[in-house]
Amino acid sequence: MKTKHRIKGLDCPVCAAKIEDRIKKMGYSAKIDLASQSLIIEDGDIEEINRIISSVEPGAGITVDSGGSTVTRKFGILLLSCVVYLFALITGRYLHGRYEPLEYGIYILAYILAGNGVLLKAGRNILHGRLFDENFLMTLATVGAFLIHELPEAVAVMLFYNAGEILEGMALARSRKSISSLVDLKAETVNRVTPEGLAAVPASSMVAGDRFVVKPGERIPLDGSIASGETWLDLSLLTGESRPVKAGEGYGVVAGTINSTGLIEVEATASLERSYTSRMLQMVEEASSRKSRTERFITKFSRIYTPIVVLIAAFLATVPPLFTGGNYGEWFHRALILLVISCPCALVISVPLGYFAGIGKASRYGVLVKGSNYLEALAGIDTVLFDKTGTLTEGRFGISEISGHNGMAPAEAMLIAASVESNSNHPIARSIVDHAFSIGFKKEYLLAVSDYREIPGEGVHATVEGKEIALGNERILRGSTILPAAKGKSKIYLTVGGKLSGTIDISDRLKEDSKMAIESLRDQGLASIAMLTGDSPDVAAAISGELGLDWYEGGLNPEGKLETLERSSRTGCKVAFVGDGINDAPVIARSDVGIAMGRIGSDAVIETADIVISDDSPLQVSRAIAIARRTRSIILQNICLAIGTKALFIVLGAFGLVSMWGAVFADVGVALLAVLNSLRVFRD
Ligand code: ADP
Ligand code: MG
Repeated sequence: MKTKHRIKGLDCPVCAAKIEDRIKKMGYSAKIDLASQSLIIEDGDIEEINRIISSVEPGAGITVDSGGSTVTRKFGILLLSCVVYLFALITGRYLHGRYEPLEYGIYILAYILAGNGVLLKAGRNILHGRLFDENFLMTLATVGAFLIHELPEAVAVMLFYNAGEILEGMALARSRKSISSLVDLKAETVNRVTPEGLAAVPASSMVAGDRFVVKPGERIPLDGSIASGETWLDLSLLTGESRPVKAGEGYGVVAGTINSTGLIEVEATASLERSYTSRMLQMVEEASSRKSRTERFITKFSRIYTPIVVLIAAFLATVPPLFTGGNYGEWFHRALILLVISCPCALVISVPLGYFAGIGKASRYGVLVKGSNYLEALAGIDTVLFDKTGTLTEGRFGISEISGHNGMAPAEAMLIAASVESNSNHPIARSIVDHAFSIGFKKEYLLAVSDYREIPGEGVHATVEGKEIALGNERILRGSTILPAAKGKSKIYLTVGGKLSGTIDISDRLKEDSKMAIESLRDQGLASIAMLTGDSPDVAAAISGELGLDWYEGGLNPEGKLETLERSSRTGCKVAFVGDGINDAPVIARSDVGIAMGRIGSDAVIETADIVISDDSPLQVSRAIAIARRTRSIILQNICLAIGTKALFIVLGAFGLVSMWGAVFADVGVALLAVLNSLRVFRD
């Protein structure tokens, strides 16, 4: 059985990966998500797992409370060690040569204060026979520095490293906050409407169909639709957009948004589990287990890199003196400098942090990226394919004409259509049912429907009053005469027993920001922007012309969409597909980056998608691409900065041209710069 635990005091992605590795070695499955600070394990002894966690990261572990004070504590210790360090620097000069034990004593105190975390980890690793990680490298180097009386340098390595870790922790906390403010709603209570009046009950006890009241200023706990009342909603939690939105009866509200002004009664459309935000939470939990290629490379890289460096240092300390007439002290010094320089901290810290900041930044705009691999892939996209209905268009259809054929009255056709469509979640279905109610139909008029089936991209089939009914586009006609639709409209056909009995003309509007979305993608220099739709080629042509797309294909069933996408992929394009319906699930799964509309989107696509847009705005696609590209370039800068500086200093160091201070800069200075640089992802 899978269980989820909160963990505290864990900030470092590398440690998280180590912990996962080690739990897996015990034969359990484990997933750590730094975003929500949670650990999901399948089986496994909690005590033992807790021991593993704290052996990798002292002070971390499974907890019942939410934790969070570790950064403050670490910060306090850092400040204290700074003070002692300053004191040592000032007094050191006078003590040196006269009271050396005292001089060493003060420096050692500062060293232990600043470096206790690293020392503990290194010590534990040695006890468990695991040498050669960055903690070991730093301990070795700094202890060596003490031995050759480079006291201020030894302490500085630890101090800077600590400062870097704290910064990293703060950056993580920041992205975590923006992600989890989207999702951390578990403890909500609800004002449930009961025959005896309102009762406060836990949100988790509610089921679809229950009614509840949301007062002004309260957060909406469950997905639902407004049954009575009118209000302004603050959707900023989902969209990052603080402008309020007016909502009245029938408006679909989403859990997690704020009811700003009016009192509303809401009918729940989903339980807490199934509510939008809970779905998002599950996705975020998956997010950090999906690592980018760059991250995986860096982890592997540092695993082989560290032992190599230690070997080279050992070589440098022992072999050259044999040939150069042996000043051992000098070469020992160089070897230590090499150790300090070559610590892979900057890489190990800043690459995952950069991606994490990118994901955090995107989530601020209500764009959920399910893993850093997807953010990485998104930066390399050159082709964006859109679905039409619900993605570029509103997905709320106007119904302009209903007609009967072969002796059926329009009202009867509408009744049959509404009865069948009330089983579907497709935007067309919802619009037909809404229209039926708006012209006076009642729930109890609806006919009994059996054998209901939905064929994505085509329509619905069912049996009503013993007759076989089909409703959908011309494909359901199976070859009989197609009737012309008015310009820009689509025709929905109704057949009874295979005979055409009615048609409904429907039309859809472009979303407000579709045009802008395409324009900003153009500005980003994408090679090709196109549309694939199951709607008729005529409608597709009209929409494509209006938006200025490069190409389009209409009349596609799900397989057709897949074929078209694969054709694009074969020409070497990196394709992102943006869609909302069940018929888009295969293409979303197959594309390099699959993007789903989070609100109108069916569960199926939201599950398969790599990125979810919570406010359904196509404009977010270019925003996500911009964030992905920025993240990529910052990470590249960091990698170049780190490897470049290290390479330079290593060469200089081997020739004895770098002082210990130079080494300190090459190691922790670069790590600090890289962390600060990663934080720039957050800036606009
Ligand atoms: P898109 O690919 O543009 O998002 P869909 O593939 O969802 O559009 O739908 C394609 C076409 O299939 C619709 O234009 C409609 O003609 C038909 N269709 C699909 N589902 C239904 C339904 N439930 N009721 C009626 N028609 C449907
Ligand atoms: Mg669609």
